[in-house]
Amino acid sequence: MSTKTTQDDYSDRYAARVHGMAQSEIRALFSVASRPEVVSLAGGNPFTAALDMDELGEMFARLLAEDGAKSLLYCPGQGDVALREQICEVMALTGIDVTAGASPDDVVVTVGAQQGLDLLCRVFLDPGDVVLAEGPTYVGALGVFQAAQARVRHVAMDDEGLIPAALETAIAEAPTRPKFLYTVPTYQNPTGVTLSESRRQEVLEICDRHGLLIVEDDPYGMLSFDGNTATPLRARRSENVFYVGTFSKIFAAGLRVGWVLAPPAVRDKLVMASEAAVLCPSTFTQAAATRYLTTMPWQQQVKTFSTLYCERRDTMLAAMSDHFPAAMTWTHPGGGLFVWANLPEGLDSKAMLPQALAARVAYVPGTGFYADGSGAGQMRLNFSFPPGDEIREGIRRLSGVINSAARL
Ligand code: PMP
Repeated sequence: MSTKTTQDDYSDRYAARVHGMAQSEIRALFSVASRPEVVSLAGGNPFTAALDMDELGEMFARLLAEDGAKSLLYCPGQGDVALREQICEVMALTGIDVTAGASPDDVVVTVGAQQGLDLLCRVFLDPGDVVLAEGPTYVGALGVFQAAQARVRHVAMDDEGLIPAALETAIAEAPTRPKFLYTVPTYQNPTGVTLSESRRQEVLEICDRHGLLIVEDDPYGMLSFDGNTATPLRARRSENVFYVGTFSKIFAAGLRVGWVLAPPAVRDKLVMASEAAVLCPSTFTQAAATRYLTTMPWQQQVKTFSTLYCERRDTMLAAMSDHFPAAMTWTHPGGGLFVWANLPEGLDSKAMLPQALAARVAYVPGTGFYADGSGAGQMRLNFSFPPGDEIREGIRRLSGVINSAARL
């Protein structure tokens, strides 16, 4: 029989990189937030219940019947070529096409965008290297940077995304020349903010001038609420921009299929690093993604997701205006999954979380999205997963918690 203990008999044996690893705020929240009585605004899941499960069931059955043996073998470490071709067609819709130098040869299929980020860090980062990232930034990227023992320097952002002058300052003040800028320019996680068109150009020019590589992470670009699509940085620049994509938010996160677009020399390194880590990404889920893209109305499904999330965003923003104190501000995302809220002066989202959980509502404290301890006055709220009535009730409960904390 196993007994649970908090004592760690291996503490003096771990590799140095383990000491910087911390449980993410989100993972720590999962067990409490998933209790049925809690309205969780803490997650980041797509609403996969909006997929047509009968159609998908048939698709998977056909895949097994027609291609079962092959799709249950290993595949090349770079990923299946039929899927890489489809990925190029998906990217072409965003402007990353052949004229932007994108070809299936340059695509490396990964176990979600997350492995794409991990591979780029394995290939480019030594311990102590500096990485620039928006402040706040994606918590999972911070985990990868930590595991790579990199030093993160945040670049301030506002409603138009990262601020070019702040990028210049961060480059100038970095203790060593930064290895790359990590950015989520469209419907960012956690803020929902999009880098404006004019700033995209400026950011590229600054990075060019300083010889700074860019890792562009774009899981949400297609989830636009108003039909406007921002042009990825990679569509404007084939040099020095590594593009990370994923099917997690436009199809299904559980398939774990993503990709990196990189020029041949870097691609080869990424493939070697991936083979060392996982041999190859799942042949079966790659085959499923290929079938999905070639036989199902996937663009229609992306519209279905976007329409649903747009309604839920509207519900959340309306509930926030109705209930939150006047001293609060928040973002108005044009797409994606998240709203980012600023608490009244002096309130601490991390300290307030136990009260929120007691009031049966969960969010992610802002501190999880910074490497430097900032973010206490902020929180991330998810609107893609909970239905409208839960969103309204969650915001109502949360406003009660905020109002009582503000009175203390
Ligand atoms: N990057 C960002 C900005 C994300 O928000 C996420 C997922 N929440 C990922 C990468 C990881 O995505 P995947 O499921 O493709 O690994």
